[in-house]
Amino acid sequence: MPPSQSKNGNTQVVIIGAGVGGLSAGIALKRQLGLHAFKILEQAEDIGGTWHDNTYPGCASDIDTHWYSLSTDLNPHWASTHVSQPELKEYWKQLASKYSLYDQLVLNRQVTSVDWDNQQQLYKITSQDSKSKKIFNDAAQIVICATGILYVPFVPPELESIKKFRGSAFHSARWDNTIDLHNKRVAVVGNGCSATQLVPIIAKDPTTQVVNFCRTPHWYLRSRWGAFPESVKWVFAHVPLAMPFGCRRFVIDSGYLSALHQSNLDLNYDGIAEFTEGGIISKKGKGELNAVVECTECVAPQARNPALSPYRPLTLADTQDKFPLKVRGSEGITVQEYYDRKGGPEAYLGVTLPGFPNFFMIAGPNSATGHASVIFTEEVQINYIMQFVKPIVKQLASSFEITTRANDEFNSAIQKKLSKSIWSNCLSWYRFGHTGKIITQWPGTMTEYWWNMRTPIWSHYKAFGHDEIRMWSQAFTPTS
Ligand SMILES: Cc1cc2nc3c(=O)[nH]c(=O)nc-3n(C[C@H](O)[C@H](O)[C@H](O)COP(=O)(O)OP(=O)(O)OC[C@H]3O[C@@H](n4cnc5c(N)ncnc54)[C@H](O)[C@@H]3O)c2cc1C
Repeated sequence: MPPSQSKNGNTQVVIIGAGVGGLSAGIALKRQLGLHAFKILEQAEDIGGTWHDNTYPGCASDIDTHWYSLSTDLNPHWASTHVSQPELKEYWKQLASKYSLYDQLVLNRQVTSVDWDNQQQLYKITSQDSKSKKIFNDAAQIVICATGILYVPFVPPELESIKKFRGSAFHSARWDNTIDLHNKRVAVVGNGCSATQLVPIIAKDPTTQVVNFCRTPHWYLRSRWGAFPESVKWVFAHVPLAMPFGCRRFVIDSGYLSALHQSNLDLNYDGIAEFTEGGIISKKGKGELNAVVECTECVAPQARNPALSPYRPLTLADTQDKFPLKVRGSEGITVQEYYDRKGGPEAYLGVTLPGFPNFFMIAGPNSATGHASVIFTEEVQINYIMQFVKPIVKQLASSFEITTRANDEFNSAIQKKLSKSIWSNCLSWYRFGHTGKIITQWPGTMTEYWWNMRTPIWSHYKAFGHDEIRMWSQAFTPTS
């Protein structure tokens, strides 16, 4: 019997995605519940999500290393203040081995639909092997959706003329490792987190002429950035330490500002008019180029095949406002249809949705911060989710579902708070359609988020299944 099945041959939980979130959920199932009857379905050929896809020079965490590890598996030996992509990927691969997650992991497997069966109280999950295109069907009582929010490179429609360019052009999240930028003229489009990390690295070669095209200014935070001396690593290993600022995510300066003084690096705010076969026409002039690196954003367009060219003109409606998967709940509607009814994405504490029993999201709506560790947020969410998984796998209940009333009250409360935040004055992807309600951000501190997530308010949930738990839950569940 495969390790991903229980004694009666069932898979109890399906986790979608093997990035940081999906892997952490798998670890929690094993560590906290001793559960092995689960599968992790990942569309890519390897684990790591963000940290598998992003391999550009200088790619590293934005926040301090020691904030960006799993609390159960702290690593005192991190080499530097901002952990590099290869180190991060290796960390997660080692954790996957340590917790034998490869027993549950299915790579090259894209989940295409998830449908709740009210009668059987389980989800039917359809997936496709990305190589053979073979279709697979799974069933599980619980689905944990860890598909991330930003994984498809997005090139805005106004840059579509990039198709004409005959040199090398690629998105930073799909770095072309075969390219040699020595003696080349390179345009870097964008000045956000990824551009800030890679520009100083590629500009180190004085023969590489870099033009950095910028549209909007950012706030840059100076940061202590460098290798940890052995003595500091010793302290992390042996001395227990308590690990105790915008419209957009702050950009941590990894050497970008000082690199701007170099003679081979120019900043350009002229605006890109169009790309040509051999270069670029800005709104004030033109220039020849050998390569273009698009440090534009990444999005999670709905049911979009990441293998497709990113150069299709996308509308704002294609972006992260859409739910990336076809998930149908107990009332026959999909998550996307639910979002449409609500005027944009929303969920209860970023994790559960009314009408979708036993469907748990990691990094769902309004649970991001823009300044703290996603790993912290995701761990807090996973610990919350485990409290539902436990009674289900123990057959004390067959399903839990957030009530419409609790969800609506929660969302009107957070939207009221968010309406007073800086984000409500900005045009950004934090908002529905870039100008509507704020759909990504949590309005409070991380401590407040953790506090709210310590234990579920069970009266906010409907429980189905075992009589005892039904009686217990009805006693606590509001009547409307
Ligand atoms: C350069 C860079 C630096 C960053 N630095 C920080 C930082 O310092 N601090 C911080 O908190 N965050 C940082 N982030 C954000 C980072 O993305 C998150 O911290 C975290 O890695 C997100 O993990 P995730 O598992 O939620 O999502 P992802 O990493 O996006 O993983 C989602 C996984 O789900 C898979 N998937 C999606 N759809 C399907 C499907 N239908 N079927 C099967 N599989 C599917 C994807 O292939 C992917 O592997 C950074 C991001 C980048 C790009």
